[in-house]
Amino acid sequence: MSVRAGIVVTGTEVLTGRIADQNGPWLSRQLLTLGVDVAHITICGDRPADLIAQLRFLADQGVDLIVTSGGLGPTADDLTVATVAEFCHRDLLLDPELEEHIAGVIRRYRPDTPDLDKGPTRTGIRKQARVPTGATALPPTGTAPGVVIPAVAGDRPVPTIVVLPGPPGELQAMWPSAITSPAVAEVLTRADDMQQETVRAYGLHEAQLAETLRRAEAEIAGLDRLEITTCLRHGELDMVTRFASGDADVYRRLLDVLAEHHGHKIFSTDGSTIDDRLIDALDGRLIATAESCTGGLIAARLTARPGSSAYVMGGVVSYSNDAKSDLIDVPAEMIATHGAVSEQVAAAMAEGARRRLGADVAVSTTGIAGPDGGTETKPVGTVCFGVAIDGRPTYTVTRRFPGDRERVRTLTTTAALHLVVAQLERG
Ligand code: ATP
Ligand code: MG
Repeated sequence: MSVRAGIVVTGTEVLTGRIADQNGPWLSRQLLTLGVDVAHITICGDRPADLIAQLRFLADQGVDLIVTSGGLGPTADDLTVATVAEFCHRDLLLDPELEEHIAGVIRRYRPDTPDLDKGPTRTGIRKQARVPTGATALPPTGTAPGVVIPAVAGDRPVPTIVVLPGPPGELQAMWPSAITSPAVAEVLTRADDMQQETVRAYGLHEAQLAETLRRAEAEIAGLDRLEITTCLRHGELDMVTRFASGDADVYRRLLDVLAEHHGHKIFSTDGSTIDDRLIDALDGRLIATAESCTGGLIAARLTARPGSSAYVMGGVVSYSNDAKSDLIDVPAEMIATHGAVSEQVAAAMAEGARRRLGADVAVSTTGIAGPDGGTETKPVGTVCFGVAIDGRPTYTVTRRFPGDRERVRTLTTTAALHLVVAQLERG
C-alpha cells in the first residue's frame, strides 16, 4: 500500500488567477521524491468553510497526509491554523516561547515597528503564536510558524496535517523541518522506495510511443507495475516513469525497447534537457544567433543559465530586411529574389552572424509567426533555419509549425536547439 497525500493551496489571489500557484507543484515534486503519491491538489480562497470542505474531502479519500499552504499571516483574513484546528477538534493554545520568538524576529528585521508590545502588532503576534493542542510548531522562516497536527484514527480518521506559510520562499525553507517532525517522519517510513526517471524525445508522436508501450507490455513481464505518464511540451515528448526500486530491471528493459524503436528520436534518458545537451555538443565551441521570427528567444534560452558567457558570443535580432543586410550582410538582392523567409536567407543570416560575432557555430531563424503574412506557398508557421559551423557547408531546413504566434515562436526556438545539437553531433 502506497502512502497518499493531498495538497490544499489557499489564497484568494491564487484562486482568482492573480498569482500563479507555485506551492502546489513544488510540494508535489518534493512528496514524489519521498515516495508519496500525490492524489489531489486543491485550491480554495480564504473562506474557512471552503477550507474545511476541502480538508473533509481529502480526509474522506483516505489520504495519509495533507499539506496546506498560505494563510498564516498576522491579519484577520489569515485563518488557516484556526480552521485546521477546528477541523481536527483541537483548541488553540498560546505558546509564550513562540510569542517571544516571533516578537524577536520582528524586532530584528523591522526594528521600527510601532507598538510591538501592545496594540494590533502584539495581537497579530499572539495570533501567530497560537498552536493547536498536541501539534508541533515548526520554527518560522518568515514570521509565521508552521504547524504539524498528528493523525487521529477512528470512525472518520483525520490524516496528519502540515500547515505551511504561503510565500514560496518561506514554505520551501520550512519543508525540511516539516518532513523531519515526528508525525510526518512516521508517515514517510511507510512510503515506498520509489524512483522516478525521465526519457525525452523529439519528433516522436504520442501515438507512436503509446503503440510501442503496448507492444512492450507483451514482451516485458511486470511492465504494468511501472507508472508511466507522457507529456508533450514544446514539441518534445517527455515520458516520466515511477517505479519501486525493486523494479529497476523492468525499467531497464523498457529503455532497451524504446531505444530499439525510437533510438534516434530519444535525446535524453537521464533527465537532461536539450539545453544541457547543447552545451555538451558545443564542447568548448562558441555559438551565436541570428533571429528574425523568434526575436531573441533562442538567445534568451542560451543565456538563461549562469556561466553561459563561456560559450555564447551573442545574437542579432535582425527582424527587418535592412537589419538583415546591414547587421549580418544578407545581400538585399537575395532577399528580393528569394524572399526573407527562404533557406538562402537563413543560410546567409547564420553565416553572417557567425562571421560578425566571431563564433564557431551560428543558428538562424526566419519565418512567418502569424497571424498575418502567410501566403499559399509559405503559410503561417513556415520557418527556415540555418546552422553555420566553421569549416562546413551551412545546413538549412524548412519546417512548418502549427498553432498561434506564441506557439510557432516557442516551437521554433526548441527546434533550433535540436537542429544545432543534431548538426554538431554529426561530427
Ligand atoms: P503572510 O504572512 O505574508 O500573509 P501567509 O502564510 O498568510 O503569509 P498568504 O497570505 O496566503 O500567506 O500569501 C502571502 C503571499 O505569498 C501572497 O500574496 C503571494 O504573494 C505569496 N503566495 C501565497 N501562496 C502562494 C502560492 N501558492 N504560489 C505563489 N505565491 C504564493
Ligand atoms: Mg497572509
